[in-house]
Amino acid sequence: MTAFTDLGLCKPILSALLAEGYTTPTPIQAQAIPLVLEGRDILGIAQTGTGKTAAFALPILQRLAEDRKPAPRRGCRALVLSPTRELATQIAESFRAYGKNMGLTVAVVFGGVKYGPQVRALAAGVDVLVATPGRLIDHINEKVANLSETEVFVLDEADQMLDMGFVVPIRRIAKTLPQQRQNLFFSATMPTEIGKLAGELLKNPAKVSVTPQATTVEKIDQKILFIESGRKRALLAELMDDGAMKRVLIFTRTKRGADRVAKQLGTIGVEAAAIHGDKSQGQRERSLASFKAGDVRALVATDIAARGIDVDGVSHVIQYELPNVPEAYVHRIGRTARAGANGSAISLVADDERNLLKDIQKVTRQTIPSWDRRNDRNLGSAEAAFKAAQPAEVARERDPRDTRGRSPAAKRHEHSAGKHFANAPRASRPGGYDPMVEGATAAPAANAAAKPKKRRRFRPGGGRGPNTTARAQA
Ligand code: AMP
Repeated sequence: MTAFTDLGLCKPILSALLAEGYTTPTPIQAQAIPLVLEGRDILGIAQTGTGKTAAFALPILQRLAEDRKPAPRRGCRALVLSPTRELATQIAESFRAYGKNMGLTVAVVFGGVKYGPQVRALAAGVDVLVATPGRLIDHINEKVANLSETEVFVLDEADQMLDMGFVVPIRRIAKTLPQQRQNLFFSATMPTEIGKLAGELLKNPAKVSVTPQATTVEKIDQKILFIESGRKRALLAELMDDGAMKRVLIFTRTKRGADRVAKQLGTIGVEAAAIHGDKSQGQRERSLASFKAGDVRALVATDIAARGIDVDGVSHVIQYELPNVPEAYVHRIGRTARAGANGSAISLVADDERNLLKDIQKVTRQTIPSWDRRNDRNLGSAEAAFKAAQPAEVARERDPRDTRGRSPAAKRHEHSAGKHFANAPRASRPGGYDPMVEGATAAPAANAAAKPKKRRRFRPGGGRGPNTTARAQA
């Protein structure tokens, strides 16, 4: 097995890697680092989670350090383009971490924030500039940025750039770069348009690839749960009640859907935040930070917002809705089982999503194990909890500051819906919604109607397995 010391990296980098806790290079790093150090152009097929950021960042840092010179004014020595603000921030953080013993400068430029600080950061020039295409074009147009002395150009997540309509801006940016430069191009997939772009930008590239389907995806325990679309929230509530759901990334198809799911989880006492393109940069950063810190257990995201999220220890990925594009399924589940860890991915599939599922299974060449939870009456308690929580929600939406206007029933429901005991041990949730306890509900009325019953967990092979939970009503 290759060690970082075999790859020709200098001491300051090796000691930074030691501090990061990296012991061995990932396959993409072992392949790409020597080639980048030789000065070759790279066409890399790799998705996030494979260690591709370090695969380009480490040799770039070394090349810049070997040939020290002042950064060009208003420009950079290495330019990295990223599709999203989150990914740009994370790439810059990686450069800073790996280069912390080298005294190089790193700046990030993306939209949705003030121009001033970015203009000031660019004025003197930086060693490494990480940018999203739109804002960088603004800076080029304003003559704030001049990329004519860029030595290394990295295009990260090229296929995602295509999906986000960034191919034209990328071509425009590339035109402002010098002819003589090193190009590193990374993409998880290689649709025709991306192959064409790679052909235009790269000179005699060395191809490196890792097969994520085999290496990453096989470590992920995947499950499909068939469920009526109207009962997804109840099934989600049941899933979230499992203590193993420590850090859960939930995907929805739309921004509004992300907000709705986060809010619904909140009503039953599960701390959740939503992250999507309509949120301000500050909101997105705060949500991500509280998810990373473990203050919120669930982060509900749209595909685009989630692209750059690199959070270690995501225990579960839940697809509340399947994506329209089958490849996105693979991207989504790849957010768990990062850097060698195991992970779990559960998809809630309604009848009108069966065709999407077929496409996904074609692309992944897998039949994902499935369980049919339609007509499963065990979800009754979770549904009652939502019904009970609803009046309080409606009242709060009317005027978030005014608690006086709320009806006594709404206040009672809000309390009993789990807000105050969601984190308490199950046994101490008097009469509250506990999906693990059959028949326990939030609403007193529903409680009276419910009968204690044994509960089936979904398990491979169906039926009750060793961790079947049967409890008496609290
Ligand atoms: P990436 O594919 O660049 O998004 O990296 C995925 C995750 O793997 C990040 O959290 C990195 O910090 C981590 N990582 C990258 N390279 C290594 C390595 N050689 N050893 C351990 N962790 C790594």
